[in-house]
Amino acid sequence: MIKPLIGSFQLMKSLNRTLVLTTIRNLGPISRADIAKKTMLTPPTVTNIVSELLEQKFIIESEVGASSGGRKPILLKLNSRSFAIVGVDVGITSIKSVLTDLDAGLIRELRCPLPPRPDADTFLELLSRSVAELIASAAAEQTVLGIGVGMHGLVNPEEGVSIFAPNLNLRLVPIRAVLESEFGLPVYVENDVVAMALGELWFGGGQLTDHFICVNIGVGVGAGIVLNRQIFRGSSYSAGELGHTTVDLNGPRCSCGNYGCLQALVSGPAIAESVQNEIALGRKSALLPPVPSDLASITGEHVYEAALQGDVLALEAFGKAGRLLGISLTNMIHTLNPQKIILGGGVAQAGDLLTGPLNETVRSRALESSVTSLVIETSQLGDRATAIGAVTAVLSRIFELPQLQGEAAVSHSEP
Ligand SMILES: [Zn+2]
Repeated sequence: MIKPLIGSFQLMKSLNRTLVLTTIRNLGPISRADIAKKTMLTPPTVTNIVSELLEQKFIIESEVGASSGGRKPILLKLNSRSFAIVGVDVGITSIKSVLTDLDAGLIRELRCPLPPRPDADTFLELLSRSVAELIASAAAEQTVLGIGVGMHGLVNPEEGVSIFAPNLNLRLVPIRAVLESEFGLPVYVENDVVAMALGELWFGGGQLTDHFICVNIGVGVGAGIVLNRQIFRGSSYSAGELGHTTVDLNGPRCSCGNYGCLQALVSGPAIAESVQNEIALGRKSALLPPVPSDLASITGEHVYEAALQGDVLALEAFGKAGRLLGISLTNMIHTLNPQKIILGGGVAQAGDLLTGPLNETVRSRALESSVTSLVIETSQLGDRATAIGAVTAVLSRIFELPQLQGEAAVSHSEP
């Protein structure tokens, strides 16, 4: 149970309001009396806060509850449809964005392709355009509460700055400052896999899990780490750089300059490249292009399609990627002992082709005590996982207590 905190009057009022709102979100429909019991706040305090929240339309009175002898209590629940949130997933080839209600229910979705290696101004222009279009599509009675951005690459979430986005070749892009001045709304920026982990924690496979790791396998490879239901970011925001852990001393060169990184072996482009190399060496495959010089046109998706048709070379490529991922995850399992690993990203959509060899490797290599109750699953949020996670980055500042989320939560908790 979350306990009320002691502090200055204003701070305490703000914390208690968050506490009541979070209790209604998690347990609603719920009566005022039950909120008082769950939060250990006094009934008059709960009544005051509830009146304020009703006035601000954050909550509504729903049905009448069962009587425990006296008058039947009126139950309270979140007024999700009166508010909207923008969540943006900045990937390597496109910007995917969503407008949702307070329960992350989808209102509208947009996808805007990104040119290869855009300059910062072009990127910010496309980002702003997507956000503006979504805000414009909110209903008249819906208040937009904020904008969350899940950004590929290294991010400083406190400053809202993209420090380095290697595959877009962008550095020090002040995403928060630009969007806040343009839209006058609170903006939160997280690394894309961190955002995905937040989304899983609130709305996906992590809802009932204290310790889990989200692993995104697409054009890049990264992990979002949740320990004790908190995102673990590390000392300079780069925890979870799983893609740049070394798995083969003699492996191919990675985009980071190192050799044999996991990302250089299991990402979508890496799987395609390994198949191209094998064909160049004379291996037979259904993927053999009509003109041999077109080898570079073979993509990860082509390899996946060929694997589904039973092509041996394509099956081997996914098998090898699955085993290498299994080794990396075993190392991570032995380091952090999670209850669950949630896989997302384009390559993870290959399903059993990848997860079969991955699971086999983890089960055969990991210590029994680490894997007996370990669950490895694919994200239920699918390719919206990061965008929903970006929405959650906003929601978590509205609902969660500041000692759980950093100082910013207090100043942004007032609507
Ligand atoms: Zn690397």
